[in-house]
Amino acid sequence: MADAHKLDCESVSDTCRFIIQSENEEEAVELAKKHMKEVHEQEFTDDELREEHLQIV
Ligand SMILES: [Zn+2]
Repeated sequence: MADAHKLDCESVSDTCRFIIQSENEEEAVELAKKHMKEVHEQEFTDDELREEHLQIV
């Protein structure tokens, strides 16, 4: 089975339980970026998301 890229928003926010999981890293980063901007009004670069927030599961 392929690795999945996962963002667990709980690690960023106490109140948000949004989880993104995708086997496609690009898609996971895109979705994470959109969510962070729309819901948390925070802008992250692709690299920041990859390095700091996405986990491989
Ligand atoms: Zn969130």
